[in-house]
Amino acid sequence: MEYKNLEEMLHIAKGKGDRKSEFKLKDRILFLKNNLPPKGHVKDENDFEKLDAIKKYLESNKYLLRSEIKDYQLMNARYDLLASLNLYIYNEKYFAGIKELKRRIIKALAVLPIAAMILLLAPEKIGFPEQRKAELNECYNGKVPLITFHAFNNSGKRYSMPLEEFEKSLPKLRDRGYYLASVSEYFENRFKSSRKPLILTFDDGYSGQPYAIRIIEDFSEKNNDFGKAVILSLNDPLHSLGIEKNPKIYDELRKKGWISFANHTRRHKNLRSLTTKGVLNDITQTYQGLETVLKEDVLKVNILTCPYGILPKPEAIEAIKNYTYQSKYGPVKIDYIFGEFGPEPESSSNSKNFSRWDIKRTSIDNKKILDRFLAEKN
Ligand SMILES: [Zn+2]
Repeated sequence: MEYKNLEEMLHIAKGKGDRKSEFKLKDRILFLKNNLPPKGHVKDENDFEKLDAIKKYLESNKYLLRSEIKDYQLMNARYDLLASLNLYIYNEKYFAGIKELKRRIIKALAVLPIAAMILLLAPEKIGFPEQRKAELNECYNGKVPLITFHAFNNSGKRYSMPLEEFEKSLPKLRDRGYYLASVSEYFENRFKSSRKPLILTFDDGYSGQPYAIRIIEDFSEKNNDFGKAVILSLNDPLHSLGIEKNPKIYDELRKKGWISFANHTRRHKNLRSLTTKGVLNDITQTYQGLETVLKEDVLKVNILTCPYGILPKPEAIEAIKNYTYQSKYGPVKIDYIFGEFGPEPESSSNSKNFSRWDIKRTSIDNKKILDRFLAEKN
């Protein structure tokens, strides 16, 4: 039977720099590894259930797998699938796991006294917030760029950027001295790094965004000082971020622990054109969706991001200040509004120019604008 092994396909995708396929293949290999019964041991009903789950999973990814489904003759040859994939043998993994655990314990024990020595000998390197604060002020001059991305694909449209371009921009941002700060670091004005803070927002819940998140994760794993943080700003969480293809997407994103969510209003209207009631309705509907997918984490969603960077009318802003969404986990309030899009980086949250009801972002609509941002003195 002619077929390309998944690992081989992964290798090819990596070689081509095709990040989307790379992530999809990684997911599938992981899924199969976690779900395949041991090779040659399909004995009981549970194994058949697992095979069915695999079949369904592969079928739901048809656009990537058409040739493979044919090659494996999946519909008729369930045992063949097991034999061909040949990815995994439980016993081997078990013993390798024990070995790895032992190795890690020994390594950790060896590092412990060194870490203690460093702490004892170099206390001045750790702490001293005042000094850090001075360094920070010098470093970013009280300005914090909040930049907004939309779709990640190759459509060439104004609000989209190829994933590969996004990936190439990360080392450039790092070279410019930036690191990805979380929005709470910004609001509390307590940055965890002495690098220049940069806040990323992904708007509108495009399906490419989870891939961009994995690119950030990969990059920051290799470059710890770059950090990782992003705000996902959503309209209709029940139809966002590719949830149709991957219903577990929100659980996966929540588990990461470094992703924040914002309310971007359900119908994505120009909020200035709506009545106060209309604005609050749209906010409520997005909260209802967020509550369904984020569960109790909906309590952390305290940012409203305005579609098109257009603030609501002043009376609607007043109503938002008094608005509460009553989730079944408790009340949620909006504490911050991301309003206008502007070219200038926003002031730090302790500055007198800062207003929590109109925080300005810069929209990075496409590669050209990102290049300009990178070229400008920030
Ligand atoms: Zn939007």
